[in-house]
Amino acid sequence: MSETDPIPHSRPLLGDMEAERAAEVIRSGHIAQGELVAGFEAAICKAYGHADAAATSSGTAALHLALLALGVGPGDEVIIPSFVCRALLNAVLQAGGVPVLADVDPETGNMNPDDARKRRTAKTRAVIVPHLFGRTAEIKSIIALGVPVIEDCAQAIGAAIDGKPVGTFGSLAIYSFYATKVITTGEGGMVAGAPALVERARNLREYDNRMESSLSFNCKMTDIQAAIGCVQLSRLTEFVTMRQKIAQIYDFVLASIGLKPIPPAPGQIYFRYVVSLAEKVRDRWMKRMENRGITCARPVFRPLHHLNGETGFPGAETAWRQMLSIPLYPALSEKEVMHIAEAITEQAEPES
Ligand SMILES: *Cc1c(COP(=O)(O)O)cnc(C)c1O
Repeated sequence: MSETDPIPHSRPLLGDMEAERAAEVIRSGHIAQGELVAGFEAAICKAYGHADAAATSSGTAALHLALLALGVGPGDEVIIPSFVCRALLNAVLQAGGVPVLADVDPETGNMNPDDARKRRTAKTRAVIVPHLFGRTAEIKSIIALGVPVIEDCAQAIGAAIDGKPVGTFGSLAIYSFYATKVITTGEGGMVAGAPALVERARNLREYDNRMESSLSFNCKMTDIQAAIGCVQLSRLTEFVTMRQKIAQIYDFVLASIGLKPIPPAPGQIYFRYVVSLAEKVRDRWMKRMENRGITCARPVFRPLHHLNGETGFPGAETAWRQMLSIPLYPALSEKEVMHIAEAITEQAEPES
């Protein structure tokens, strides 16, 4: 068996180009939000057909400002899936809204539109729909609920539905550029969509230079980050192709032991490579892969209904108990990919 250093669940891919651009900005002396942030916003708009975009300090901040831009306030209900990171819940609470959880498809982890429909009330002001793991959600059925939709593209930049980029279906899109997302600025995010809404978000992200007297925040991106972001964006197609290639290798080795990943969707990107296994088998896999120096993870740490003690989310419960995420990212060397592939073939279960 080949030996490699421990393989983390995720890791960014940054190179000399990012380092050079960041150094240039530092030498220029203009490091806070400025022309380069505006340039990064324009580049995202151009790449994904948005009319306008406002960069933020994180994906969570982007969600918060997007909710406020849509007018979410005290008492307004916002539907979010139970099977997702806590950032969505936090953003709704920060905006003063009431989070309403919806169940997900146990096979894909994406929001179940029928369940979301059942949770809609006269007070529903918005729905946040993540394209989880880079796999496109049933966005059209959710838009058909007739409530403003925020597409959470934190895991899905570069994915498309019928050739149309994700993020262009709903009222607003948000992105995250956290270190281990598809492209990164260390921390960072963006709100994108119609100019009237984005302008509100832009206005809320700073406390100075504004005419309004209403409460605002400081959640700006820096020019250093934006410079890195522009380089990362220029490498996105390459990153997505690398992810695709690794996924094909994993597909092949999984098939050799009679398994498949969660069902793919056309136009998806592989942000996460996820396998669904019986809970005990999943836990054995995690342990044995760890023994080989490979960190696999539950792709969602804990479903949100666990946090507030709600029940009635069988889809999210199943996804949480069964899903396993195997390391897949462009920073993996060929040797590491082969090491992971080898370890997968060793997971064959006599009974499963
Ligand atoms: C990462 C992530 C967020 C939050 O983004 P941060 O930049 O970490 O604040 C929101 N939604 C989804 C689906 C994410 O994966």
